[in-house]
Amino acid sequence: MAQVQSLSTAAQHVDVLIVGAGLSGIGAAHHLQADCPRKTYAILEGRETIGGTWDLFRYPGIRSDSDMYTLGYNFRPWTEQKAIADGPSILKHVRDTATEGGIEKHIRFRHMVKRASWSTPDALWTVEAQRSDTGETVRFTCSFLFLCGGYYSYESGFTPDFPGMDVFKGRIAHPQQWTPDIDHAGKRVVVIGSGATAVTLVPEMAKTAAHVTMLQRSPTYVVSAPAEDKLANRMRRFLPAKMAYGLTRWKKVLLGMFFYRLTRKNPAGVKQRLIKMAADQLPKDYDVATHLTPRYNPWDQRVCLVPDGDLFKAIGNGSAEIVTDHIETFTETGLKLASGKTIDADLIVTATGLRLEVWNGLEVSVDGVRIDPAKTLTYKGMMYSGVPNFASSFGYTNASWTLKCDLTCAYVCRLLNHMDKTGLRQCTPRNTDPDIQELPWLDFTSGYVQRSIDRFPKQGSKTPWKLYQNYARDLAMLRWGKVKDGIMEFSNPRAAAAKLARIPVAEAAE
Ligand SMILES: Cc1cc2nc3c(=O)[nH]c(=O)nc-3n(C[C@H](O)[C@H](O)[C@H](O)COP(=O)(O)OP(=O)(O)OC[C@H]3O[C@@H](n4cnc5c(N)ncnc54)[C@H](O)[C@@H]3O)c2cc1C
Repeated sequence: MAQVQSLSTAAQHVDVLIVGAGLSGIGAAHHLQADCPRKTYAILEGRETIGGTWDLFRYPGIRSDSDMYTLGYNFRPWTEQKAIADGPSILKHVRDTATEGGIEKHIRFRHMVKRASWSTPDALWTVEAQRSDTGETVRFTCSFLFLCGGYYSYESGFTPDFPGMDVFKGRIAHPQQWTPDIDHAGKRVVVIGSGATAVTLVPEMAKTAAHVTMLQRSPTYVVSAPAEDKLANRMRRFLPAKMAYGLTRWKKVLLGMFFYRLTRKNPAGVKQRLIKMAADQLPKDYDVATHLTPRYNPWDQRVCLVPDGDLFKAIGNGSAEIVTDHIETFTETGLKLASGKTIDADLIVTATGLRLEVWNGLEVSVDGVRIDPAKTLTYKGMMYSGVPNFASSFGYTNASWTLKCDLTCAYVCRLLNHMDKTGLRQCTPRNTDPDIQELPWLDFTSGYVQRSIDRFPKQGSKTPWKLYQNYARDLAMLRWGKVKDGIMEFSNPRAAAAKLARIPVAEAAE
């Protein structure tokens, strides 16, 4: 594959520019190399290393909360024993993919992408990135821009403005900014939060801390699952790795879809069942009604998974507890709660969430007009109405991220190949149906979603504008559905067509 070429001293040109070298960006590069081998590409990565989430988060016990048979790439069998894997193993999966695929040489580290402007006459994006080492602004041009920079801000996590934080004499840490000197051994720890990060941290820290309190405003669904899939591990002994992986992957996909459907069809029944499953793993007199019975239905927010019931075990042996209450104020020695109760602490971890980011924080304009993402409609959950040659990799909320990202990459490659075959340079999803209603991108009731959802693109009420969060449906649409569906507008801008045909612009066909 050709390397990045210089168009001028000011800008470098590639066919496809990928933003981000995390799980999605490395996956996108692999798919491009496999399905569009003649395309040149580069990855612009703001940090100085590969891996995104799986390199950034370093808190104790960092792990996946979905299984690696679906969080792993579809093209790279997951062969480790554990299905719920620790952060370093996931990072290795990403890094090995990059190394073995020769992807690393295409990555420009310390390039934070800030701006992208599309020019229809040239059928080109001009992309501006700022180098974090020199402060220099670097320009690239590309025919297709593929955002794979995740969904949250790397600058900092979200911490509510709790009263009295400044008077607390102990240490306060956010899981997104964890440093090796944060020591919890023998300490009294409070973890504020009830999401995936909190339920990961609590049992892990409880192994060596004096005591860990998980302080939550309201309960979340917590479900135990085996850390290892015994059948998958056994199958690998008899079947080729790819076949065993494929079978387990489909088993996980189908079980996940079945469970999600059940929560939609019979929310009350599933709710009762999940609460009973938690109660069965806790001491007999445990107050499940207060601490583990959410006010919402399953999958109205993410369901938290705990491998081999580790959280329940830590509660059972007394090394951890859940307190459901509100923080009135931080004090010098810990926290004062709305109920009047106080908790003494040496270390308080604010597992209070992420700050969501739209389009990887880029300013996007088309022919000089700034695009407000919130005024666009998402097309097939990956492109946006009125924005040409532009896709983003955004995973499922009710299943593993990579399932959707693999499909998105497959579709982008089909789209690029279709344009090459037909000699067309521009593809723009356009909604001309007045009956399409605009709906929020996500219908999660979680605080972190509600805080930012107004800034997100909308989804529509019908295909291809609707997000079904359904792998089987997306597989049919993105792998096998028609690329030329009457909604994606293909065109050949004048100047670009002329350049292609090496004839004067005036003579080029519109
Ligand atoms: C703690 C944690 C645990 C998770 N566990 C799971 C799980 O078990 N299952 C699951 O399905 N999902 C999980 N997720 C969601 C998770 O983020 C995705 O699964 C996946 O890692 C996302 O990969 P990504 O490459 O799209 O984004 P990221 O991992 O966020 O990587 C994005 C990369 O792009 C770079 N970048 C971003 N913006 C720019 C820019 N403007 N310019 C240049 N570079 C940029 C970043 O520096 C980063 O390297 C988890 C998320 C977190 C935070």
